[in-house]
Amino acid sequence: MSKELAPRQATLSIWGGEEGVRIAGATQVPVVNSVAFGYDDLDRWRDVALGDAEGDIYSRNTNPTVRVFEEKIRLLEGAEAATSFSTGMAAISATLFALLEPGDRVVSVKDTYGGTNRLFLDYVPRFGIDVKLCDTSDQDSILAEIDAGCRLVYLETPTNPTCKIVDIELLARRAKAQGAVVVVDNTFATPINQNPLSLGADLVVHSATKYLGGHADTLGGALCGSADLVATVFAYREVNGATLHPDSAYMLLRGMKTLQLRVERQNANAMEVARFLDAHAFVERVFYPGLPSHPGHDVAKRQMSGFGGMLSFQLTGGFESVKTMLPRLRFAHRAANLGAVETTVAPPRTGSHVELSEQERAAMGIPEALVRYSAGVEDVADLLADLDQALAHAAERHTRHLTPT
Ligand code: PLP
Repeated sequence: MSKELAPRQATLSIWGGEEGVRIAGATQVPVVNSVAFGYDDLDRWRDVALGDAEGDIYSRNTNPTVRVFEEKIRLLEGAEAATSFSTGMAAISATLFALLEPGDRVVSVKDTYGGTNRLFLDYVPRFGIDVKLCDTSDQDSILAEIDAGCRLVYLETPTNPTCKIVDIELLARRAKAQGAVVVVDNTFATPINQNPLSLGADLVVHSATKYLGGHADTLGGALCGSADLVATVFAYREVNGATLHPDSAYMLLRGMKTLQLRVERQNANAMEVARFLDAHAFVERVFYPGLPSHPGHDVAKRQMSGFGGMLSFQLTGGFESVKTMLPRLRFAHRAANLGAVETTVAPPRTGSHVELSEQERAAMGIPEALVRYSAGVEDVADLLADLDQALAHAAERHTRHLTPT
């Protein structure tokens, strides 16, 4: 897209990357379900294969539909380059395994997404890589570990599920002094609310499965950043094989057209839901960076343009109350997903952090009675009324010492 026009996010999410890929006057991007691309001219085949000419050879490596998705997310994150993956975890694991070597040291935080945490606890150390997971709320300890020397700093903000905020700009500056690569998982924020590259990060990863797709009907992952780092990870992905399918790329592209509309509505709905829950007698605590009482509120205000659609809250009465309340919600899926147009709730105990033991969750500051709430785009008055009746039911059962129904 022409630089002089400098289109903004809402425009980029619709038009970005789509120039020159339409067929026979079609207004929409074609889904190119071809494994291979044929060449009668063998010299050209060789040039394309060696990267000396534009084109595609084999869809595990590159594909025209997938390339449009990569270009759109590249533009939205303001990156030099982007590549894509079959899932968010494929993006995260490929990034780590492509960039790290035995003897390297990684600094990250304790409450990253459960799958990422498992990678850091069980797999990355197997390759002689030292992983230091810091208390996310203790900025001084993260800085001290970065200053002790590291090859890669991996951050997630807001975190899953307690929406802790880390200061990307500050940590990236200190990481740079060590020559470390800074990777930020921007899944929760989306490029509408936060652009980590503009804050000094080197790479941004996404579970495109979530807000980018937005309709809970396709999986995908993305990586954006400098051309050399993205090329290193792309080379690994070519042989690792966790490629985004053209059908999924198309679904993601369709979802992304409404990214800004959806995210703005989800920001607004989450804010109102957080305020409502914060004032509710049966809710012990609300975790939402948009609330002034949230410890990360000031940093979030500085580095985000919206506080996001994700929040979590802790009920009175432990997990029994969660079991009573959640089935009562009419306008929420009870499922291990987030970022969709429908409101979706999940206790970390059965969802994002099910692989962890109760002790591991506690060490990450995740109470057993926590509910993660992904605000959808419904009418917020209906969401509040729905929460109100479900909470009233749970509170009554709790007061009367009754078992969940
Ligand atoms: N990062 C975050 C913040 C997530 O919430 C998730 C999944 O919930 C992932 C990464 C992994 O994404 P995927 O399920 O697409 O592999």
